[in-house]
Amino acid sequence: MSRFADYYTASVLSAERLTPSMIRIRFGGADLRRFVSSGQADERVSVIFPLPGQARPPQPTLINGIWSYPDEATRPQFRSYTVRRWDPAAPEMIIDFVVHEGGVAAQWALRAAPGDEVGLTMADGWYAPPVDAGWQLLVADLTGLPAAGRIIEELTPGDRVHAIIEVIDPADEQRFETRGDVTYQWLHRSGHGLTESRLPEAVRGYERPAGPGYLWFAGEAGASRTVRKFVRGELGWSADRFEIIGYWRHRKEEWLARFDAVRDEMAQALDHANTVGTNRTEVRELYDDALERVGL
Ligand SMILES: Cc1cc2nc3c(=O)[nH]c(=O)nc-3n(C[C@H](O)[C@H](O)[C@H](O)COP(=O)(O)OP(=O)(O)OC[C@H]3O[C@@H](n4cnc5c(N)ncnc54)[C@H](O)[C@@H]3O)c2cc1C
Repeated sequence: MSRFADYYTASVLSAERLTPSMIRIRFGGADLRRFVSSGQADERVSVIFPLPGQARPPQPTLINGIWSYPDEATRPQFRSYTVRRWDPAAPEMIIDFVVHEGGVAAQWALRAAPGDEVGLTMADGWYAPPVDAGWQLLVADLTGLPAAGRIIEELTPGDRVHAIIEVIDPADEQRFETRGDVTYQWLHRSGHGLTESRLPEAVRGYERPAGPGYLWFAGEAGASRTVRKFVRGELGWSADRFEIIGYWRHRKEEWLARFDAVRDEMAQALDHANTVGTNRTEVRELYDDALERVGL
């Protein structure tokens, strides 16, 4: 059962096709006045979707200050999305949804209309370049593009960034206002379930400037594993030098079915990782190693 400290209702103000693969949704509503932003540039919220055929998600129950859905039968679906822009004065939040086949979230976004409601919870984020990072490498597919865009828009003068972004169509490219010094490398027609992502090879091929840097990666889970192995195993970077996050999983249904068969074993592996790992990165790596050992 999911438990969360805060719950906000957000109403669709508008939904528009931003690029061929992306729908931009503006959310508002009085309840968003209470929203507490994590402040991180790659800010994530869990979006809670209506049950099939309904315009708003079921209301969670507040028990001892914690929200939850005690009734499994009416427990709605949660998905992680990036707060592309947040204006507390309005209040207004923008979230960009990638269009893809299937998926509660993608299908909801395709049909979203003014007045539709979602729930929001669990704002957090991870992008945190160390102060001595003289350069940054931002790497993302379409799902990471909203966060990459916000990161680029929030750079300060002197920040030196190279962004490698994989999109489906050249028309999916976006332009960002920035005070940083940013160069771009757009990859087209790969990843996204169409073909293997080319992001790992692009990371490997990137000519890293001299001196300490920082890598932020957001893309498909298998590609994120390959990049993490390169950065940890081959480059030997310490945990504070990178944030590599799997934002989605190709053929998730097949993966989940295989995961179900080893659920208990993996719960033990997670306990072990939490006990032995000395930081979030180590815990993630230990658990990922356990998954890989069972072919997941
Ligand atoms: C921190 C974080 C921030 C994120 N921010 C964003 C964001 O701002 N915008 C955004 O669009 N996504 C974002 N994502 C990714 C998003 O949560 C996933 O893509 C999610 O799986 C979509 O849910 P769904 O219900 O549409 O599909 P699911 O029910 O999860 O999956 C249904 C099917 O679609 C496939 N699938 C899922 N996502 C994709 C995809 N992007 N392309 C192709 N096939 C896919 C699955 O493999 C599965 O077969 C973020 C994820 C994280 C962890």
